[in-house]
Amino acid sequence: MKITIKVNPIECITAANCTGIAPEYFHIGDDPYVELLDGKGNPHGTEFTFNATPEELERLQEAVDACPTRAIQIVEEP
Ligand code: SF4
Repeated sequence: MKITIKVNPIECITAANCTGIAPEYFHIGDDPYVELLDGKGNPHGTEFTFNATPEELERLQEAVDACPTRAIQIVEEP
């Protein structure tokens, strides 16, 4: 399924719940908010579109649910 993951840098408080659940997609570096990765270690800023497997989608949804400030959003693409 094609999806876009978005993180809101204003809402992110770097609680790191998402990085623990899906470290291949979420990373906290020098910025005071989480940064998206493409699953292979390449940075993608605050928005990343890709084809997720059902397993990946499930784990990303877990990260969404674990974020205390609801800073992560998953949008299904057509
Ligand atoms: S869980 Fe939410 S607040 Fe914590 S680092 Fe991830 S996006 Fe930011």
